[in-house]
Amino acid sequence: MDTEDLKTRVLAGERRALARAITLVESGRADHRAQALALLDGLKGHGREALRIGLSGTPGVGKSTFIETFGCMLTGKGLKVAVLAVDPSSARSGGSILGDKTRMERLSREKNAFIRPSPAQSQLGGVARRTREAIDLCEAAGFDVILIETVGVGQSETMVAEMCDLFLLLLAPAGGDELQGVKRGIMEMADILLINKADGDLKTQALRTCADYAGALRLLRKRPQDPEGFPKAMTVSAVEAQGLEAAWQEMNTLARWRRETGHFAGRRAEQARYWFEAEVRDGLLARLRAASARQAMRSLAAEVEAGKLTPGQAARQMLEEHLT
Ligand code: GDP
Repeated sequence: MDTEDLKTRVLAGERRALARAITLVESGRADHRAQALALLDGLKGHGREALRIGLSGTPGVGKSTFIETFGCMLTGKGLKVAVLAVDPSSARSGGSILGDKTRMERLSREKNAFIRPSPAQSQLGGVARRTREAIDLCEAAGFDVILIETVGVGQSETMVAEMCDLFLLLLAPAGGDELQGVKRGIMEMADILLINKADGDLKTQALRTCADYAGALRLLRKRPQDPEGFPKAMTVSAVEAQGLEAAWQEMNTLARWRRETGHFAGRRAEQARYWFEAEVRDGLLARLRAASARQAMRSLAAEVEAGKLTPGQAARQMLEEHLT
């Protein structure tokens, strides 16, 4: 299939074409990369503006259960929902725990849903680029909501926060002292904290935990991108589908406010700039890792060690002669 053909089909919302396009952006081959860039360029500005929602939480907190129930609720409203995953552990294992479609069996059978596992790539930068570009492809294919799931590990949360319009943090009911366990930086990134499992025996504890988090949120500095009352904490039960409608309303309220005040577009522009700079850095690092560059580094390092070149001279020679 040529790029033009693929573009037409992605724009028509064909799921197989979308899957193929994502495979193309994931590929490390230089010719595929050129095609992927041409495709993304051709799709720029087409499609609709989706609501990109990041969702993070430690393993076991109920992310896949939530996405399944929440996703089905949205498709039930006639919305098209795409689910992408960023799983840093898949880079190590080569397979993705988040990629297991059987975790979201009901949603994966919905014709208005598209679920794509995390790619197995060794560099987090590679995972970031692929996810970001997959978001653009889903948007071009006419999806209304794009959920980007990540586990609360290392840099992956920051990365996801840099590609979404809203960021949700899913938490479990806990004793008061466990509240300290959530890193302040992550709380500051979140727009809505969802205390999950507010059902059965856990309900009282969930309500208490929610009140604790609400208190902690009030202590944070007010952010310009928030209307009164945000960020906020709410309880949900993914299993019993409780609180999901209320959470969706809050997401819409926040998104609407940000659209009206220009923060929505402003944030996307900032993100585009962030990823441009990140790609330049990644590109330079990739060149440094190339065999010829490593060879040049070694021989220049030897000359520096031997006192034949100063570190400054050698660095300049490296940058000017070997990294272009
Ligand atoms: P993930 O690792 O974050 O994707 O978590 P899962 O969705 O796999 O859920 C982990 C466990 O928590 C499973 O046994 C779920 O059945 C359970 N669970 C998820 N959501 C809820 C909920 O709303 N209430 C209760 N009681 N259990 C839940």
